[in-house]
Parts: sequence; structure tokens; C-alpha cells
Amino acid sequence: MLLREIKGKLRDLKGVGPAAEEAFHNLGITSPADLLLHAPRDYEDRRNPAPIARALEGRPVNTLAEVIAHDYFGFGKRRTLKVWIEDESGRATLNCFGRNFLSGKLAVGTRIRIYGRFEYRYGELQASAFEFEQEVTPAQHSLFGIILPVYPANADLSQKLIRSCVRQLLDRYADRLDAELPVAAAVGDGAPKGELLRMLHFPDDLDSARRARTALAWEELLILQLGMTRRGLELRNGDRTRPASGRRLSSAVLEALPFKLTPDQETVLGEIRSDMQLPRPMGRLLQGDVGSGKTLIAFLAVCEAVERGEQAAFMAPTELLARQHADNAARILEPAGIKIALFSGAVGGEARELLLERLAAGEIDLLIGTHALFSSSVRFKRLGLAIIDEQQRFGVLQRNALQLKGEKPDLLVMTATPIPRTLAMTLFGDLEVSLIRTMPPGRKPVITHLAAIGKEEKVYDWLERELSAGRQAYCVYPLIAETGKLQLKDAEGMYRTLKNRFPRFRLGLIHSRLDEEEKLTTMRSFASGDIDILVATSVVEVGVDVSNATCMVIEHAERFGLSALHQLRGRVGRGEEQSYCFLVYDPELTEAGKQRLKVMKEEQDGFAVAEEDLKIRGPGNISGVEQAGFLRLRFADLVRDASLMIEARDRARSILAEDPGLLNPKNAVLRGLIRQDQE
Ligand code: ADP
Ligand code: MG
Repeated sequence: MLLREIKGKLRDLKGVGPAAEEAFHNLGITSPADLLLHAPRDYEDRRNPAPIARALEGRPVNTLAEVIAHDYFGFGKRRTLKVWIEDESGRATLNCFGRNFLSGKLAVGTRIRIYGRFEYRYGELQASAFEFEQEVTPAQHSLFGIILPVYPANADLSQKLIRSCVRQLLDRYADRLDAELPVAAAVGDGAPKGELLRMLHFPDDLDSARRARTALAWEELLILQLGMTRRGLELRNGDRTRPASGRRLSSAVLEALPFKLTPDQETVLGEIRSDMQLPRPMGRLLQGDVGSGKTLIAFLAVCEAVERGEQAAFMAPTELLARQHADNAARILEPAGIKIALFSGAVGGEARELLLERLAAGEIDLLIGTHALFSSSVRFKRLGLAIIDEQQRFGVLQRNALQLKGEKPDLLVMTATPIPRTLAMTLFGDLEVSLIRTMPPGRKPVITHLAAIGKEEKVYDWLERELSAGRQAYCVYPLIAETGKLQLKDAEGMYRTLKNRFPRFRLGLIHSRLDEEEKLTTMRSFASGDIDILVATSVVEVGVDVSNATCMVIEHAERFGLSALHQLRGRVGRGEEQSYCFLVYDPELTEAGKQRLKVMKEEQDGFAVAEEDLKIRGPGNISGVEQAGFLRLRFADLVRDASLMIEARDRARSILAEDPGLLNPKNAVLRGLIRQDQE
């Protein structure tokens, strides 16, 4: 049988009543299958006996002992049973806090197996947390002489109960659970699922536990990749004929540019163009560090679509960025004759009606906007290309929703937060990945300085020199306004402070509470050089492009995540001048905080930063990923299992290439598993 065919309730298990059932639910365990897949977080090796005398070395005692006396200490409600035990090496006591009822089981003269950490206190070896059992007959399961699982648990669930429940399930089902999936080369033998689960929960040695975990991680990744690849294929299978592009528009655009494409841009443009000629729609993720020139590539893709009579949609994560893209498109694409419109929340009433009519009539070639592009009133005449900027802020569902507005349009997803390869494969397993690694020529790496709180004045001196030389600066703070609780600098307060500190210069303030028009006006003034210092919160994080800005000051840098810091730093170093990033930090840092700043000082490459981020934070914390509810991985670890993931993806592709609908009887199990996974 298959794991998912196990019927029944947790309540059917011995020892599980309504309270325990609820406690299991709180851990996300609602069925026997869930419980069997509840992976131990650690193991306790109780194979080697350790007599009482060994406790003095600080090691857990694991011995066969005899109860030699009872004693009590404390008074009234606090009266606590103390049990004296003895083995051949020495004596110790068990303090039974709240467990006076143990006096029966631990009657004087009883021989017990005991496991616990003992400490030397008040002249005695004592333990308060211990496990014991009376000597067992071989037929019974013992807690001793084996490796015991230690589970993620909560206050209402004891390890003992979880172990006993898992045991009951293994006893009942382990011999009957078949192998479920094709096996990975990395995993080796294809043990039946029941065997894998037994090895996972009650392994004979730690190496088997590791192998079982890897095998289960493989299954998990394969299912994930199969589901995603198939979803991608469904969305993208198509057989339209597409007129060849004459490249007239893109040539016009390229000729008007004051620079040449970088080699990486050329490569990526080639990939996109050839995708766009295939009968099936393109599904491509364009990764590139901030400022690497992705937007331009997206515009050139728009040229291809427009040239063959299709429309394009360009979706940005914020209104500010949508407007910036629209400004750029007006500058770069309009001269070639491409008709552009910005669909923003600010466009209302008749203007909005008119815009939507023109769109539906095909009079607009490129519509730029935020997620407002999803609204049902937005209808294209012939949407041929959907571009999504900064994908990590959008869920997969939204991505699909935009695609559904056309007849399976080409899809280009861009991300400036470099997503580590393994994570990209999890999130975008259905997309091909293109990479821009090199920056446009003339860019100098940003020099990053760390400064402890109290040293701000030195930073400001530096800033003053840069400003006097005609450059501009960003100063970023974690808060918009003062809060009573946190002792942190805020953007509004620092706007006033810095105004006094830099009387000769013009300051601007920008944060998310300002209305869109105000933000836009401020950004435009900064871009045109009418503002010297832009005081901001992390709203300037994404995509803002002012090449004369050479200084980025981030105060309370320890408050920002690594990818946010990298994005912020990416706002400078966009021109030919040397740029600087100053990270002002509170020296009372957490370990992770220290690591983040170190990475920032040493690494320029966004991909390296992202890999480090994944290591420090764990994949569950990558922004935008958690909310998508996407990474419900039980066994696989995106960093550790990177190569397994790649193998799973390749295998998924080859399985689906051979049997796209998974209709072949040999794939029946897979089909069922994927369906279950997507429900
Ligand atoms: P991204 O979207 O990857 O963050 P952009 O497309 O906004 O990057 O490009 C950043 C800046 O670099 C823009 O001002 C753009 O005009 C410029 N740029 C793009 N490609 C090149 C190139 N090949 N050579 C010089 N400058 C370029
Ligand atoms: Mg960009």
C-alpha cells in the first residue's frame, strides 16, 4: 500500500485523546501519514551503556540500576519524591517534581533501565529529567540500547508520546508500505517506503538515518519538481505559428542607445528572441544583479512582440517603479513608435475608461502598471508578452493570473534580488533561467565601510566631501517616524537633523506613508539633481536608478536583512564615479547580524550575497517565499540538497517528456502524489 492510503485518525492511537490530538494539530500533524513524515530533529544515541559514575564527566547516564530507597523533600504541595538508585558504579537520586505518583512504579527493589543527565548538587548526583523503564521482555520495544528519535514537539506533547505513536504506526504499517517513486542515483537502493520510515524514526545507526532522510528528501523534491514542471508545461504548451520578427523596432531602439549591449545582455536577448519564435510560449526567468541592465532587455523583448502585432504588459511591484519604467519606456521605446500607457491607481474616471477602451482596441502596445494589471476590467486585444519585474514579490498564482489574460502569452520574469540557484529551481522550476552576470562597463565596485554607532560624524564628513564634489547621497533608516518603544533613528527625525548638519545642501524625504504624487515628485527632483540628500526608508530598495548618487548611508544596518542591504547598496555605483556604502551599526549585534555585515563588506556579487543569506537565514526566511506558502519541505534542505534538487528537476523533465500527462500505468503513483500535493 501507499503512505497516503493509510486511513484512520490519530485518535485511534493508544495514548492519544482529544488534548493530544489537538497538540498534534498544532504541529501541523493531522493524520497518521503526517505523523510518519514527522522527521526527527535529532537523535539520542542510547546504544552504549554509561554507568552512574560517568555522570561526573557530564555525559548522560544510560544504565541498569536498582531502586534502593525513597525520600521526600519540601512541604505541602511542594512535597517531592526523591528516589535513590544504585548501579555497580555508584549511587544517584531521581527528583520526581510533580511526579510523586512514580513511587509505585519505582518501588524499592525494582530494577530499572534509566537514562538521564545527572548533576552534582548538594553533595548528591541528581537528575530531574530522566526516562526509565522496568526491565522489558525482548518482545516489547525498549527505549534503551537503541538510537531514539528526538522530535520537534510542543509543550503539550512529550517525546515519549510521539515516539510511542510513531512506533504504533510503524508496527502496523511499515511492512506494508511499498516503494513509491523512481529512485535517485544519489540515493542508491530503492528501499520500500516503510523501510525508509523505519530507518528515519528508529535507525540502527546514524548513517542509516541520514540515508533515509536523503531518500525522503529526494522523493519530496521530485514531487515538487514534477508538479511545477507539469504546471509550467500546461500553461505553455501551444502550437501557434508566429510571424518572424524583422527586428526593425529593436534595431531602431538599439541604434538610438548611447552604448552597446554587454556580452551577457546579447546572450540573454538571443535566448529570449529564440524562445519567442517557438510555437510554445516562452517561460523565462531573467536574473541579474541590480543595475545589470535587465530592464533594457525587457524593452527589447517588447519590441519583438509589438513588431508582430502583439501587446505587452509590464508589471512592477510598486507604483514608483511602474512610473520609473514608464518614464524609461517613454524615453527608449516611444521614439521607435511604440505606444505606451501607464495604468496606475492615480488614473481614474473617464481617463481610465478611455485607456481601457484603447487597450481593448489594440491601440496601446505596452501597458505598464502594478498588480492593478490583474483587475478584471483590464482587457487586452492581443496580449503576447507578460513581463513581471521583481518576481519575488509576487506569488506564483499572480504570475499565472497575468498570463491568463492572453492566449498563453510569452512570460518574462525578472528578478534583481539574485535568487540562489537551488531556490530559483524550487520557486520557478517551470521556467528557464537566463543570467546577466556582468555589469555594464565602467562600473566600479562599491566600497563598503562599517561604522559603529557613535562614529556617524566621520561618515557625515565623508558625505560632505562627496556632496561638495557635486554628487548625491541616500541616507536610509529603519523607521519612518519616531516610536516610543524603539531607540532607533527614524527618517522624519533624521531629515530634520541632517538638514541642520548639512545646511548648504538640499534634502528630500521619502517613505511609504507619503502619497504617490509626493513620492514621485521627490524622486524626480532627486533624479534631476535638485535634491542632494535623499532621506529614506527602504522604499528606495528596489529599482530606483540615479547614477550621480555615489553614497549610500544605512543607519541601524543590523536591522536590515542581507538581501535588503544588498539591494540598497545597489542604488549607488550606477555611474562611472567611485561609490561608497556606509553601514552604521549597533555593536551589540547578534551573531547573525555580525555575519551579515561581514558578508556585505566582503562580497559585491549579488549571487554570493544571496547564497550567504540562505545559509544565515535558512530558506524559510527569504522574503516573499514564505508568504507564497511554497516551501513546505519536510526533509529537503535547499542549501544542503542542491545537487539532489538538480537531479530531481532533470528527472522530472525526462519523465514528463516521455509521458506528459503521466498516463502511463507505471507513472500512476506519481500522478496520484502530484495531485495530492497540489490540493
Ligand atoms: P536593472 O533593471 O538590471 O536593475 P537597468 O536596466 O535599470 O538595470 O540598467 C541600469 C542602468 O544601466 C540604466 O541606466 C541603463 O540605461 C544602463 N545600461 C543598461 N545596459 C547598459 C549597457 N550595455 N551599457 C551601459 N549602460 C547600460
Ligand atoms: Mg530594475
